[in-house]
Amino acid sequence: MQQKKIMQQQITLPDTLSVRHQAQVMVIGGGPGGIGAAVAAAREGADVLLVEHYGYLGGMATAGEVNPFMPNHLNGESLDTGIFEEWLDRMIGYGGAKPKSRTFDSNIARLAAEDLCLEAGVRLLYHHRTIHATVDQRRLHTLVLHSKSGLTAAQAQTFIDSTGDGDVAALAGCRFHLGDETHGGCQPMTLCFKLQLDSRDRPSGASGQDLYQAMAEEMDHIQKVYAAAQADGRIDCPRENVLVFRGIEDNIVHFNTTRVVGRSSIDGEALSHAEIEARRQLRQIVAVLRQEVPIFRHTRIYSIAPQIGVRESRRIEGRCYVTIDDFRSARRFPDAVARVTYGIDIHNPQGSGTTLLDLPCGKWYEIPWGCLLTADLDNLAVGSRCISVDHAVHSSMRIMPPVCSLGQAAGSAAALAARAGCDISEIDGVRLKNHLIGRGRNLLPDDNGAPVQKSP
Ligand SMILES: Cc1cc2nc3c(=O)[nH]c(=O)nc-3n(C[C@H](O)[C@H](O)[C@H](O)COP(=O)(O)OP(=O)(O)OC[C@H]3O[C@@H](n4cnc5c(N)ncnc54)[C@H](O)[C@@H]3O)c2cc1C
Repeated sequence: MQQKKIMQQQITLPDTLSVRHQAQVMVIGGGPGGIGAAVAAAREGADVLLVEHYGYLGGMATAGEVNPFMPNHLNGESLDTGIFEEWLDRMIGYGGAKPKSRTFDSNIARLAAEDLCLEAGVRLLYHHRTIHATVDQRRLHTLVLHSKSGLTAAQAQTFIDSTGDGDVAALAGCRFHLGDETHGGCQPMTLCFKLQLDSRDRPSGASGQDLYQAMAEEMDHIQKVYAAAQADGRIDCPRENVLVFRGIEDNIVHFNTTRVVGRSSIDGEALSHAEIEARRQLRQIVAVLRQEVPIFRHTRIYSIAPQIGVRESRRIEGRCYVTIDDFRSARRFPDAVARVTYGIDIHNPQGSGTTLLDLPCGKWYEIPWGCLLTADLDNLAVGSRCISVDHAVHSSMRIMPPVCSLGQAAGSAAALAARAGCDISEIDGVRLKNHLIGRGRNLLPDDNGAPVQKSP
């Protein structure tokens, strides 16, 4: 088991650095996890400040243009009732998401998330990035934020790290795991992009079909063209095939196909190189498709995600650690705060290939509260993909719906801690689970291991 501890960066802070931001609960990062955390804590009466690096919410759902929401369902029902489903419903209300495919418009995802936060009373602080943390005993004391104003200080009773990368915990010196247990490699990064199909390219005889369906019927040919271009060097991308999804409109094709391996998303320079490498792959893929696949002859680039997508980085050392053995045995915990049916889905950290492993139908595994509590600090919880699980389980629980539910659990616990005047680490997991059930999370029924029938 690889563990790393980063050295506290030595930053000389100006004496005049004032504490400009204060809250009972401070959520850092406004992706699916941060949205769940901030909305839950605010709805339960806490004074919440959400600090976000970008000028909008959504994280990978918006800045990474990741799509669609992968299913985390049991017997056809979502396991993420609560804030995640509300976010999706709000998008549907704007006409920016499709209930069945769970495809959504990333611009609408921003609006819907901001609606939920503002209505709950969350104070939003955009364009601020956490760059430093000070610790007093086992408590996170002050965060230093960087913005156009320069450096400012921020303090809270409870902090929730929803940065995806576990930046806050790492800056505060918490131990973390990185990559797979054998080689230390993290899943590759992918820059998502979308192409718009042109009706001039509709194949003759496909007049009744929507354009996406017409494209889908060409998939065998598309894969052959891609493989041939990889073989002769016109496409230099290690991904084994072209992975696409239907866009929110029938003429939009969402590509999850670029693959950047061997670069660290928590190394600033490597991340910069990764963006350039991914856009080089994008240019090559689009050029080959335009030249060799008739349905893409007049295609145009519809969108390119503002930032490369990061699947995996730090996993913060917690008070519990869920492993692939727990996944395989569909393990349950009395203090479960989320249930997951989505399978193992590891894009090869070294190159080509994707490892998939599904749970048997009707089975789920659970994430206990201790996976969200940091081992090293008492007033910092993780409400994000970077919880305390192994590399394989991370590849399953990282999808957006359960991450939002995990954020919700951290936010509810922070509100309970604010009310009780205690540290979040003192919140009992079983009590929290029951509290979440009372707030609409479907962590019931507990069927004591009886087989679950698949709905017709
Ligand atoms: C290419 C790719 C494809 C994927 N495909 C799917 C899919 O099809 N379906 C699915 O459900 N899931 C998918 N996922 C997984 C999913 O998108 C992520 O695991 C999920 O978004 C994680 O949510 P999060 O809130 O933990 O982090 P993020 O979504 O990464 O959000 C973190 C937020 O924190 C902010 N932040 C980071 N550092 C700081 C800092 N220091 N200070 C202030 N703010 C900061 C960021 O700007 C961001 O807004 C995919 C991921 C990738 C990368």
